Amino acid sequence: MDNGSLQLTFKGVLMKKSSNLYNEACKYIPGGVNSPVRAFRSVGGKPIFIERGKGSKIWDIDGNEYIDFVLSWGPLILGHADERIVNAVKESVEKGSSFGAPTKAEVDIARLIVEMVPSIEKVRMVNSGTEATMSAIRLARAYTRRDKIVKFNGCYHGHGDSFLIKAGSGSLTYSLPSSPGVTKCVTKNTIIAEYNDLENIKKIFLENKGEISSVIIEPIAGNMGLVLPEMDFLNGLREITKEEGSLLIFDEVITGFRVSKGGAQEYFGITPDLTTLGKIIGGGFPVGAFGGRSEIMNILAPDGPVYQAGTLSGNPVAMIAGYHTLKILKENPDIYNYLDKLGEKLEDGILDNIKISGAKGVQFVRFGSLSCLFFNNDKVKNAIDALNSSTERYSAYFKEMIKRGIYIAPSQFEISFLSSAHGRDDIENFIKANYSSLKTVFD
Ligand SMILES: *Cc1c(COP(=O)(O)O)cnc(C)c1O
Repeated sequence: MDNGSLQLTFKGVLMKKSSNLYNEACKYIPGGVNSPVRAFRSVGGKPIFIERGKGSKIWDIDGNEYIDFVLSWGPLILGHADERIVNAVKESVEKGSSFGAPTKAEVDIARLIVEMVPSIEKVRMVNSGTEATMSAIRLARAYTRRDKIVKFNGCYHGHGDSFLIKAGSGSLTYSLPSSPGVTKCVTKNTIIAEYNDLENIKKIFLENKGEISSVIIEPIAGNMGLVLPEMDFLNGLREITKEEGSLLIFDEVITGFRVSKGGAQEYFGITPDLTTLGKIIGGGFPVGAFGGRSEIMNILAPDGPVYQAGTLSGNPVAMIAGYHTLKILKENPDIYNYLDKLGEKLEDGILDNIKISGAKGVQFVRFGSLSCLFFNNDKVKNAIDALNSSTERYSAYFKEMIKRGIYIAPSQFEISFLSSAHGRDDIENFIKANYSSLKTVFD
């Protein structure tokens, strides 16, 4: 498809400024964007350039207003430009934006993370979720003195080489790179498993006895659409990793401080060995972190031999934004009830819409403030099921939602987020737009 010739509309009007700026962006930036999903390739059309955001709303450079259900892919749990965060950041940046030396803000946020996340005794800050997962598996490998890792089909852990791996056809234990540039050496040390399939994991451990350093998982999968874990599966995974002397790594870059103040591990009552964090902990700034038991974290440099570093790691402005976000969440745990109530209202409305609009083969999945609409005939429990979804229908649905001022993810395999800045009216508007959009898609 010629991506360039198609343009989205807002209430029937073309987005001229976005369209022109995208053409210019393509001259200087590969694909015109700094992260591929933003190019809207999987839904067609050109991306929308955003000028500003406030609360639950964003405005594009053509002046169109949207209710935002992407929220920068999850970080903005308090909505856009929350005044408490903006003020704290202003005050911090005026005192200088980086020193490459310790600051108090780093200690404040680390203390808060340790207090809030059950399994974390010590935490190291980095600049992105990608860095967090890369560093966590290096640490796991060093700690266990084993090379292999297991990751699940459809889970995303950033773009580190070890994670850009897919299962080879035929045998699940034979892996292939999912991007050119990833070497054979790296590929052979990542084993791909199927989500929600405990038998599969048992078989992998049997075939790789004493070789698996760690199993990394999104405890609620949010990068193949939304896929919920079966409790037997998560509990079984905890047991088997413990028995086999492997570390269990929860990648809570999305779920951390999102599904409860202590993340999915607190919600499910499962204690991983290591946890990776990102998104919310930066309060809208580029931050990641990884943490776990002191005994494991203590082998990191400078206390131990495992090297890991960063010029801008623990950046004071980012730390302040994250610290205030976490502090607000800790002091106002009602936010999670509120988000769940909003989610429930959204769910009720969408389930009704599916019934009365005549839509066929639509699955709505929700966990608290996370949700996703699969254009799929069956319930989705892993990546194989997710890939059976109709991306054509999602693309048509997306265009209809945008037209109505509802900004959702430009991909069937991404999810929607709610923030404490969203109100019941925002949800009502979503439900109305959802009804009309489903009607159009299934007409
Ligand atoms: C977003 C994400 C990452 C990567 O984080 P970046 O900050 O984009 O590098 C890792 N794991 C999960 C589960 C994510 O959703």
